[in-house]
Amino acid sequence: MPLVTGVYIGLGSNLDDPPEQIRRAVRALGAHPGIRLKNRSSLYRSAPMDGARQPDYCNAVVEVESALDPFGLIAVCQSIERDQGRTRGIHWGPRTLDLDLLVFADQRIATERLIVPHPGLAERAFVLYPLLELAPDLDVPGVGLVSDLVARCGSHPLECTPFTDSETR
Ligand code: ADP
Ligand code: MG
Repeated sequence: MPLVTGVYIGLGSNLDDPPEQIRRAVRALGAHPGIRLKNRSSLYRSAPMDGARQPDYCNAVVEVESALDPFGLIAVCQSIERDQGRTRGIHWGPRTLDLDLLVFADQRIATERLIVPHPGLAERAFVLYPLLELAPDLDVPGVGLVSDLVARCGSHPLECTPFTDSETR
């Protein structure tokens, strides 16, 4: 089966040892027969989007090659979320694991179940900083160059900072 390159998945967690949740999800993605891991960003710490009192998030982005189509890939992502104890509570509420399909090569999809590129990508520092690490020159279809998006996102870099080694060991 042909592998599609230029596929990026965003990971986030703010419950139950977030860095470990992210590492475990990366291993699960890499272990799937239809997915090949190419690259992983550092782990970043970010404040919750709604400013509410919930723990900080740990975020990362991985680059993969996919033998699955975008719908197959998001189904795998959702089953990994479930495996790691994700229950669907309040929107933007605390979660053990959130996997978002950010970019799927040059594809643009707008259905009820799946929107690609991910609609929040251009505004979210916790997506853009890890993506910048992996693919500064990536031209997100219909959105723009990652390096331009970072420059424009207007967020203070401290809203999204690397985890220190001691926190992730
Ligand atoms: P959020 O990530 O915005 O906090 P959820 O993880 O609860 O929200 O996902 C809500 C819905 O978003 C899911 O049911 C999923 O079908 C849909 N969705 C649409 N496009 C995407 C995408 N590119 N990646 C992940 N989920 C998506
Ligand atoms: Mg999600």
